[in-house]
Amino acid sequence: MASATAQHRRLSNAQTESVLEDLRALLGADRVLTGNDVLAQHAVDESFHPAAAPDAVVYPASTEEAAAIVGVCARHKAPIVPFGAGTSLEGHVQALQGGVSIDMREMNRIVRLSIEDLDVTVQAGVTRKQLDAALRPEGVFFPVDPGADATLGGMVSTGASGTTTVRYGAMRENVLSLTVVTADAEIVRTRSRARKSSAGYDLTRLFIGAEGTLGLVCEVTLRVRPTPEAMSAAVCGFPSLRDAVDCVVAVSQHGIPVARIELLDEMLIEAINRYAEMDHTVMPTLFLEFHGTPDEVKAQAAETEEIAVEHGGEGFRWTTDEAERRRMWEARHAAYHATRALRPGTSALTTDACVPVSGLADVIVETRADLDEHDLTGSILGHVGDGNFHVTLLIDGDDPADVERGMRFHDRTVRRALDHGGTSTGEHGVGYGKAAYLELEHGPAAVEMMRAIKRALDPDDIFNPGKIAGAADAGHGSQPG
Ligand SMILES: Cc1cc2nc3c(=O)[nH]c(=O)nc-3n(C[C@H](O)[C@H](O)[C@H](O)COP(=O)(O)OP(=O)(O)OC[C@H]3O[C@@H](n4cnc5c(N)ncnc54)[C@H](O)[C@@H]3O)c2cc1C
Repeated sequence: MASATAQHRRLSNAQTESVLEDLRALLGADRVLTGNDVLAQHAVDESFHPAAAPDAVVYPASTEEAAAIVGVCARHKAPIVPFGAGTSLEGHVQALQGGVSIDMREMNRIVRLSIEDLDVTVQAGVTRKQLDAALRPEGVFFPVDPGADATLGGMVSTGASGTTTVRYGAMRENVLSLTVVTADAEIVRTRSRARKSSAGYDLTRLFIGAEGTLGLVCEVTLRVRPTPEAMSAAVCGFPSLRDAVDCVVAVSQHGIPVARIELLDEMLIEAINRYAEMDHTVMPTLFLEFHGTPDEVKAQAAETEEIAVEHGGEGFRWTTDEAERRRMWEARHAAYHATRALRPGTSALTTDACVPVSGLADVIVETRADLDEHDLTGSILGHVGDGNFHVTLLIDGDDPADVERGMRFHDRTVRRALDHGGTSTGEHGVGYGKAAYLELEHGPAAVEMMRAIKRALDPDDIFNPGKIAGAADAGHGSQPG
C-alpha cells in the first residue's frame, strides 16, 4: 500500500501512455487532451507557486463518466487532480506528480431548485456567478461569494467563504449534501437533503476543505436564502486601522446583524479609486451592507453610524440605491486585481490569517507596521467581522531576493495569527503553500489523524497527492523563508 505522504512518485512514460490509452478508449481520443496549452492552463492556480503540469486533461460530462475516469486512474494508480476554475491561491491544482487533471467545468447544470425547501442541487462545475444569475429571478440567493468566479465544487473543496459570511456562514454552514466519487470509483451521497441529521459521521464536512485529496465532488446541494426585501450599503472612513477594527468589534457586540463588513486599508482604497474610477477618501475604510425590511435596514444603518462616530468614523454614507450598492461591491471584489495594477508585472503573494475578533485590531496594526518597516508593497483587506484578513503583497516572482522577503513576511504573519489563537488560513486553504504550518497549528497527533483519514479513503494516494497533510513539509515543522 502506497503511503499517503509518498513524495515525487511519478508514473513512467509507458505507464502514463497506458493510462491515456484506457482514457481514450473510454472517452474517445479527442476528449483526452495533451496539448501544451491545455496542460499549461491546468498547471497552475492564481498563486505565485511554481507551475506543475498534468500529463492529460479530461472534462467529464456526468457523474457516471467522472466515476469511470476515476476508475481508470485508480486501476493504474495514476494521480488525479480535480480542477474547478483554478482560482485557488496555495498551489492547490499544481499536478506535483503529473497524472490526470479532471476539469469539472462541463458539469455545469443546475440540477434542481426547491423554493419550498430553500435548497438547490448543482453540478460541481457551476460557478458562483452562474448560480447567482439562475437564482436571482426566483427571489432567492446563495450567500457565499469569494472574490473570484469559482466553481461550487472548488468552493466546497477549499471551504470557501466571502463577504457575507459574517451573517450567513461559509461553505461549511451552507452545504447540505454532496455526491462524490471515491478513490475506488464508487458514487457516494454523503447525506440526505434534510435540514438536520444525526445519522452517523458527518461525511459532508469531511469533504469540505479536503482540496480534492479525498475524492471528486460531482454534485452539491446547497441552502439558499430568500432575497431580503431591502438591502442598503454604507461606507465610512476612520482615522486609523485600529479605530476601524474596534468599530467592527463594537458593532458585533451590539448584535447588529450586518450582512457584510469589510475593511480596506489606505493603499487598497487608493488602488480601487484608480482601478474602478471611484473617489473614496484615502483612509482606512469600512464597506458595510444591511439586509432586512426597509425599516430594519434603516435602523441598522443608524445604529451602526452612531457606533462608527464614537470610534472616530467620518463621512458615514449609506444608500439603498441598487446600482450604487452593486458598484461598491464590484469594486471591493476587484480588490485583488486593483492591488496588482499598482505594480504591473509583479506576482501577488496573499496571506489569509484569521484570529478571534478580540485580537484582530492588534494583529492588523502589527501587520501594517511590519509591511512599512520592511518597505513591502502590500494592501490589507479584511473580512473583519470574521476576524479574517488578507495582505496582497506584490513581489517580483523572478527575483529570488524579493520572493524570499515576501516569504519571510508571510511566515511572520502566520506566526502572529497563531500566537493570537488564530489560524494560518481562514478561507484559502492549505494546498502545498501552507502545509509547513499544519503541525504548528494543530499539533502532530491531529495531523496524523488527517493522514489516517487520507489513508483510509485513498490508500494509493491518487487524489491530489502532495497537498495538505500529504505535502513534503506538512507537519515536519519546516519554515518557509
Ligand atoms: C481575486 C481572488 C479573490 C478570492 N477571494 C476569495 C474569497 O473571498 N474567499 C475565498 O474563500 N477564496 C477566495 N479566493 C480563492 C478561490 O477563489 C477559492 O479558493 C475558490 O473556492 C476556488 O475555487 P475554484 O473553482 O477556482 O477551485 P480550483 O482552484 O480549481 O481548485 C481548488 C481546490 O479544490 C479542488 N477541487 C476543485 N474542484 C473540485 C471538485 N469538483 N471535487 C474535488 N476537489 C475539487 C482542487 O483539486 C484544488 O485542490 C480568491 C481568489 C482570487 C484569485
